[in-house]
Amino acid sequence: MKVYFLGTGTSQGIPVIGSEHPVCKSLDSKDKRLRVSVLIRWDDYSFVIDCGPDFRQQMLTSNCHKVDGIVFTHEHADHTAGLDDIRPFNFRQGEMPIYAHQRVIENMKMRFDYVFETVNKYPGAPSVKIIEVENNKSFAIGNKLAIPVNVSHGGLQVFGYRIDDFAYLTDVKTIEEDEIEKLKNLKVLVVNALREEPHFSHFNLEEALEFIALVKPEKAYLTHISHVMGFHEEVQQKLPENVFLAYDNLEITL
Ligand SMILES: [Zn+2]
Repeated sequence: MKVYFLGTGTSQGIPVIGSEHPVCKSLDSKDKRLRVSVLIRWDDYSFVIDCGPDFRQQMLTSNCHKVDGIVFTHEHADHTAGLDDIRPFNFRQGEMPIYAHQRVIENMKMRFDYVFETVNKYPGAPSVKIIEVENNKSFAIGNKLAIPVNVSHGGLQVFGYRIDDFAYLTDVKTIEEDEIEKLKNLKVLVVNALREEPHFSHFNLEEALEFIALVKPEKAYLTHISHVMGFHEEVQQKLPENVFLAYDNLEITL
């Protein structure tokens, strides 16, 4: 299985529009971060987790020709706003399977009403096939099982996902013990770490490192990173040896 980091930035991305912050002005490509998403590929399958406003650019950069489904973590715009850009996949493949919590589906129906229209739907509009994700219910993606992991994003329910020895958790602030049980014996854990300062709805660096020490994956990658976290190279040097700051276009093999 290969995991390609399509985006590793927080909601504004890096650089932030108009910002004079040194990280936003950095020439290091690892300091440029699109909105958070990963592409997971194995055999002939390709699945994307989340579909933010940079989705089109991410599909072009990763040279992704086929998406078998989009698995959503939650409804926030940095994770869903790219839904309109699934159309090239629709034209080639037909309906796009989307996997999400019922609440997230209802939210998308409101925000992308034209996608879910049943009467006089515009022929070129995106088309989706809805698959509801429920807590504690594994579901098939391709020939693998995905296990939803329930977390809280400052009070908002969010799903992380485990697939084999890989788990992807973004926008976590708190997680119950029963859910941590689902994360045993991981080869790779991806988890959010916004910045060093605390935040009401995201792990900061210290909380993410504590969580990693608790879960004990072989390796961990930090994502959903703000420019105020600092320069990639400098932050990486401060991390434990099995923890890495993810960066856009990094691909790892499990
Ligand atoms: Zn987010």
